[in-house]
Amino acid sequence: MVTKTASKKSSKPTTSKAAKTERKESKRLMSLEEKYGAHNYHPLPVVLHKGKGIYVWDVEGKKYFDFLSSYSAVNQGHCHPRIVKALKDQANILCLTSRAFYNDALCEYEKFMHNYFGYDKILPMNTGAEGVETALKLARRWGAVKKGIPNDKIKIICCEGNFHGRTVTVITMSDDPSSYANYGPLTPGFIRIPYNDTKALEKALEKHGKEVCGFIAEPIQGEAGVFVPDDGYLKKCYDLCKKHNVLFIADEVQTGIARTGKMLCHQHDGIRADIVILGKALGGGVLPVSACLADDEIMMNIKPGEHGSTFGGFPLAARVAVEALKVVKDEKLVQNAEKMGKIFRDEINKIKSPHIVQVRGRGLLNAIVTKPINGKTAWDICLKLMENGLLAKPTHDDIIRFAPPLTITKEELMKAIAIIKKSFEQMA
Ligand SMILES: *Cc1c(COP(=O)(O)O)cnc(C)c1O
Repeated sequence: MVTKTASKKSSKPTTSKAAKTERKESKRLMSLEEKYGAHNYHPLPVVLHKGKGIYVWDVEGKKYFDFLSSYSAVNQGHCHPRIVKALKDQANILCLTSRAFYNDALCEYEKFMHNYFGYDKILPMNTGAEGVETALKLARRWGAVKKGIPNDKIKIICCEGNFHGRTVTVITMSDDPSSYANYGPLTPGFIRIPYNDTKALEKALEKHGKEVCGFIAEPIQGEAGVFVPDDGYLKKCYDLCKKHNVLFIADEVQTGIARTGKMLCHQHDGIRADIVILGKALGGGVLPVSACLADDEIMMNIKPGEHGSTFGGFPLAARVAVEALKVVKDEKLVQNAEKMGKIFRDEINKIKSPHIVQVRGRGLLNAIVTKPINGKTAWDICLKLMENGLLAKPTHDDIIRFAPPLTITKEELMKAIAIIKKSFEQMA
C-alpha cells in the first residue's frame, strides 16, 4: 500500500497501535459530521479524501481498494480523466439552462441514448429515486390513458425486499420498516408480492390484471443483499405482463450500465423492458444523473407541463452521461465485469472460513453471506477489510457486497482477493 503521510520506517502503519490511536484528522472530521450532519447514515469509520480508478485514499493518506463504488455509481472508476474532462469542458461553457429553453447538450444526449439503448425516447432526471418516480408516473399515465383503467383504481405490482429509493411514494413499495415506518400516510395503489416467485405474479395478475398498469422489479436485488433470482424469472414475469397488458419496468439503477456483465441486467433473460430506469453510473461517478427510457406509446402520454425537473437533463449532466457511456464501450467494461466476476466468485469460493455461508452475484455485483461467530459480525469483517486496505459495506447485518469499479484488472483483483482472504483468516 502506498501511504503518503506514514513514516518511512513502518511499512504497515495502520496496524501499529500508535497509528490506530492517532488518525486525529479522521476523528476530527467524523466528529463534525456527528455534530452537524443528520444521522441518517452509519458509515464505516474512514474519511476519504481522494479517489483514482479503483482506489480511494483517506485523509491520513492510507490507500484502499474501493469495493463499494458508491453503490455502483462509480463503475467507470474514480475521477475518470475523460469524464472529468467532459465535466470541466462543459462547465466552462454552460452548466444549467432549465428546460424553459433548448440547450445544445441535451439534444445530442437524447439522440445518443436512443442509439445506445434502442428506446424511442428518454426522460432525464437526476437521482435514482426520481427516475423511479418518473417510471411510476409514466406507467400510471399509460394505464389511465391507453389501458383505460379508472384513475382511482390504477395499481402497480412491486416485489418484497425491493429497494427503489427514498421518496414517500417509493418507500411505500418497501417492506423494510426502517425505510417506511413513521413517515405518515403512504401512497395507495401498490400490490407487493414475493420476489423470484412467478406464481405469485401470475396470481396477482389474474386477480387484479385489469387494474394493473405496471410491474416493477430490480433484475438483481442489490440492497437486499445481491439477491439473484432464478434463471428465466424475469422472462417469465415479462411474458405474464404481456399476457395481461401490463408494463414491465426494470429498475436498473444499480444493476445497469455494465455492472452485471450485460449493459442492462435484464438482458441476461433475453427480454426488453417497457420502461428502463437508469441512475448511479449514468453520471460516471461525478454527477447525479438518472433517466427513464421508453418507447413513444408510453413516453408520449406525458405532455408539456405535466412532469419535469429544473436540473433534469442539464447540459453538464448531458455531456457527462454521454462520456460516461462512451467510456463503458471503449473500455469494454461489460466484458470485463463478466470476466472479473467469474474470477472473483471462483476465488472467494476457495476461501475456507466458518464465517462464509454463500458467495453469490453476477458480473461484478457480488456478495458474501456471512455468519456471525463469537459475536463477530459482517460489520467486524468490514472493519478488518478496512484495516487491511479494502472498503466494503455490510447490508442487512450479515451480507457484504463486493462491487469494485468495472475497470479493475485481473492483477488488481487478485490483490484484493488476497486481502479478503487474509481478513477472513484473521477473523477466525
Ligand atoms: C440506489 C438505488 C435507487 C435510488 O437511487 P438514488 O440516486 O439514491 O435516489 C433506486 N433503485 C435502485 C435499484 C437502487 O439501487
